[in-house]
Amino acid sequence: MCTNPITSKHVAVIGAGAAGIITSRELRREGHSVVVYEREKQVGGLWVYTPKSDSDPLSLDPTRSKVHSSIYESLRTNVPRESMGVRDFPFLPRFDDESRDPRRYPNHREVLAYIQDFAKEFKIEEMIRFETEVVRVEPVDGKWRVQSKKSGGFLKDEIYDAVVVCNGHYTEPNITHIPGIKSWPGKQIHSHNYRVPDPFENEVVVVIGNFASGADISRDIAKVAKEVHIASRAREPHTFEKISVPQNNLWMHSEIDTTHEDGSIVFKNGKVVFADSIVYCTGYKYNFPFLETNGYLRIDEKRVEPLYKHVFPPALAPGLSFVGVPAMGIVFVMFEIQSKWVAAVLSGRVTLPSPEKMMEDINAWYASLDALGIPKRHTHTIGRIQREYLNWVAEECGCELVERWRGQEVDGGYMRLVAHPETYRDEWDDDELIEEAYNDFSRKKLISFDPSYYLENGR
Ligand code: FAD
Repeated sequence: MCTNPITSKHVAVIGAGAAGIITSRELRREGHSVVVYEREKQVGGLWVYTPKSDSDPLSLDPTRSKVHSSIYESLRTNVPRESMGVRDFPFLPRFDDESRDPRRYPNHREVLAYIQDFAKEFKIEEMIRFETEVVRVEPVDGKWRVQSKKSGGFLKDEIYDAVVVCNGHYTEPNITHIPGIKSWPGKQIHSHNYRVPDPFENEVVVVIGNFASGADISRDIAKVAKEVHIASRAREPHTFEKISVPQNNLWMHSEIDTTHEDGSIVFKNGKVVFADSIVYCTGYKYNFPFLETNGYLRIDEKRVEPLYKHVFPPALAPGLSFVGVPAMGIVFVMFEIQSKWVAAVLSGRVTLPSPEKMMEDINAWYASLDALGIPKRHTHTIGRIQREYLNWVAEECGCELVERWRGQEVDGGYMRLVAHPETYRDEWDDDELIEEAYNDFSRKKLISFDPSYYLENGR
């Protein structure tokens, strides 16, 4: 468990989304002095909803005006709240406040309110410089130079012992190439710029992608559109299924084969649809535009390399680290455990292997992905082994392992999401895990009421 730090470092954190605020708390807890840079006016990052979107709906134009958030108006969490919250600050329903959403899978406003509660409780804002964008980060004589720009102000250079990158990775759209798309005449938009279904009223719409956002957005649009067709590359080529929705206008296909200048879209199942719009729910790219590492760090097909256990680039560690790179279910808990590790390594309480040993580990990880036929783009998609990964990191820095109920809730929730995307947030069969979670909070004195209060009111 945590002991007193051996050395206190001066650390810059880039970003005040959930990762940045959780990381800054852990760094300060370990005795480091912390400055958090945040280019927006408030904490919350992705969860700060705005009806605005990028000026280019596909976000391809480098000169476009940009927004950070990718949250759509109807979004509810895809993880149950008792699993989603930070372990010693649970994401509890607030039945006492009507402005809050007490549901197990609450709306996005409730998540932002929780993040704001966290920042207030742990006095995080006193460490943050708002409206200050980091424009360049580079190693200089064993330290790190951070160049930042306050909105409307001058560039400022500062030197730190270490930099932790928490800039998020759901802002830079990944657009799948479709044969013939250059001459296809309809409208195209990426889910990063999707907010409400209204612009698709009475249209025929093709939604590409059927994971969390694709499943939600296709159903959102089906409320107002004439027809919605989902193209999923995870489906067999012959797939053609009608999906049950109240409007009776949603179909699932395999992926798109070609598009044509007469507006037609041909699926691999042979079906042809004349569509007005395509919505790309095809994910995001990692992007660290401020990082200058002389070519050492690369991004190749969504692989950020080289990163030891998705956190430390061997030759630049521990001065440079990343919190939040992997894609998984219990993201806030990952931020917590990864940042405890970073804090402990920086204080000297925990040591990293040599750069050579870290590289060996990274290469072994890549080889294991190859052997299993897992594409490079899934290097950081560790949903299936998230508990194993987090427990490895937790053991490394001597903190509590991930609770059994949390791992089971997320795995079960994922299965429900895939099998019943339209109902998984409101119908479940794991009441015993909810009970275990609240009993656990009670045992750890994290809740002031009896667990039955939450269990009775929360259903
Ligand atoms: P962000 O929240 O994106 O924060 C990054 C911050 O860094 C921003 O505030 C940004 O302004 C700032 N920043 C970036 N660059 C700079 C710079 N150069 N200088 C200064 N500041 C900078 N997770 C869940 O746990 N549950 C869910 O239900 C869930 N739903 C999701 C739904 C969608 C549609 C998406 C896209 C993701 C979802 N996630 C969910 C995952 C999500 O990534 C996390 O919840 C989390 O909020 C991400 O936090 P972050 O701090 O890594 O990134």
